[in-house]
Amino acid sequence: MCGHLSCRHFSQEEILRIKEMSKAGIQPHQILSSLRQGNPHLQVVSRNIYNQISKIVKESLARRPVIQALLEELGEGGFTYNIEYDHEGHLTHLIFAHPLSIELTKSYSYVFVRDCTYKNNKYMMPLLDIVGVSSFNTSFYSCFVFMQNEKEEYYVWALKMFSKILGVDNHPMVIITDSELALMNAIRIVFPSTSNLLCVWHIEKNILANCKAYFEEEVDWIDFISTWTILIQSPNETSFNEAWSRFEVKYKERKFVLKYILSTWLPYKEKFVSAWSEKVTHFGNCVTSRAEGAHATLKKYLQVSTRGLREVKEKICLAIENQFQEIKTQLSSEKVRVVTHVSRFALNELYNQHEASSSCDLPSLCKGQFLKTMGLPCAHMIKEMNIEVLQLNDIHPQWRIDRRLFVNDRHVSLDNERDQISGLLLEIKDKYEKLPLTQKEGYQKATFSTKRGPSKFEIVEKAQKCARQVCHFFIYLLILSTMVMIIYIYV
Ligand SMILES: [Zn+2]
Repeated sequence: MCGHLSCRHFSQEEILRIKEMSKAGIQPHQILSSLRQGNPHLQVVSRNIYNQISKIVKESLARRPVIQALLEELGEGGFTYNIEYDHEGHLTHLIFAHPLSIELTKSYSYVFVRDCTYKNNKYMMPLLDIVGVSSFNTSFYSCFVFMQNEKEEYYVWALKMFSKILGVDNHPMVIITDSELALMNAIRIVFPSTSNLLCVWHIEKNILANCKAYFEEEVDWIDFISTWTILIQSPNETSFNEAWSRFEVKYKERKFVLKYILSTWLPYKEKFVSAWSEKVTHFGNCVTSRAEGAHATLKKYLQVSTRGLREVKEKICLAIENQFQEIKTQLSSEKVRVVTHVSRFALNELYNQHEASSSCDLPSLCKGQFLKTMGLPCAHMIKEMNIEVLQLNDIHPQWRIDRRLFVNDRHVSLDNERDQISGLLLEIKDKYEKLPLTQKEGYQKATFSTKRGPSKFEIVEKAQKCARQVCHFFIYLLILSTMVMIIYIYV
C-alpha cells in the first residue's frame, strides 16, 4: 500500500485539474479516472473529488453570499442581466444573457420559441428560456430567466428585459409558445406587433388530457383527432368556417368536448389554424419542439437538478459557448463548401422548390404560403421567372450567411466566388469529356435512379468528396451546374 502523502492528497496541479474539469462539466468519477492516469498510486475515491469541488466553490465565493457572487460574475463576464427581489428581499426573478447569445439574438431577431424548464436547480425556480433560430435552421439560446413563478407580471418583466437585449424598435416577427395565458398576455403587452403562434403539438396534448375520456372507442378518438387536424389545417377562412360547421354537427352529441374546444381553443384560432398562421413568416416553426430540444441539451450539461443558480449559470455558459462555436464553424465551412451568400439549409429548400416547379403535381394556383412562411421564393415564382438567376433580395435576411458580423472571415468577394465556381466547372467539364462513353452513360442512369434524395446538398457534398475520382465527375457536374444555373444568386 502506498503510504506517501501524495497518494492520499491532491497536489496543487491535481487541484487545478479538478477545477478545470469540473468547470467543463466533467463528472467526478470521470475526473477521478483522469487523475489516476496521471498518478496510478492516487488513493482517493469519488467522494474526495466531490469534497474538493465543494471546497473550490466555497473558496470562489470568498465569503460573499451566493447571489452576490453570481451577480459579480455575470458583470465580470460581460453578461446583460437584471434581478428583482420581493419586499422581504427574496429573489423573484433573474434574467441573464451571455454576450455571445446577445450577438446571435441581434443577428437572428425574427423568430423565437419560448418554453419553461423545471427541476434544474435546487430552489425549484422555473427556468424560462428563449431560443432563437440560425441561418442553418439550428437553435441557439437567447436568454434565460429564473422566475419564482409564472405570473403575468413576471413574464412582462422578462419580456421587457428581452426587448432591451433586442434593441430599440426591434420586435421579433414571431414568438412560438405553448398556450399559457399569462405569457400570451405578456407578449401582447410588450411586443404588440409580434405574432404569437401557439404550439399545435401542445394543443393536441391538452385536448388529449381533457377529451380522451369522453371517447370509449379508440377508433372514435382517432377519427376525432383526424377531424381536428383537418380543421386546423384549413388553408383559408372560408374553408375553416365550413370545416367548423361540419365539426359542430359531427360532435353535437359530445357536448363537453364541443364546449371545451369552443371555449378553450376557438378564441385563439388565429394563433394556430393554418388559414392565419401560414400568413406569418415563422420559418417552418409551428411547434415548440425546438425549445424542448434545447432543454434536453441543457439538461445534459446540468447533469443533476440540485445545483445552485450560480452553478446552473456556469453550465449554461458552457452550453452557449459550444453552441456559438458550432454556428461560427458552420458559417465558415458553408462559405467554403457551398460558395454562396445563403445557408445550405435555405439552398436546399430552394432546390426542392425548383424541383417542384417542374413537377406535374404543382398546384396551378399559388397561395403564396411558402414565400410568406419561409421567406424564400416558391415553386410557382421559380417557374414564372423562367430565367437563370434569382435575386439576392428574394431571400429573407434570416438565411444570409454573408451578413453575419460575428465571423472573422466575413466577406468573400462575389467575383472570387464566380471565378472559383466557373473555374471548377471548366475543370470538371474538361475531365468529363475525356471519360469513356460507358462511364458517362452509367452515371447518367445512376443520377436518374436516385430521384429524390433526402438532401440535394448532401449529394453535392458527397460528390465533392469523390471529386478526385474521375468517374464521379459527371454527377458532380450535373448537380453543381444545375445549382449554378438555377439558384446561384447574384447581388
Ligand atoms: Zn407558390
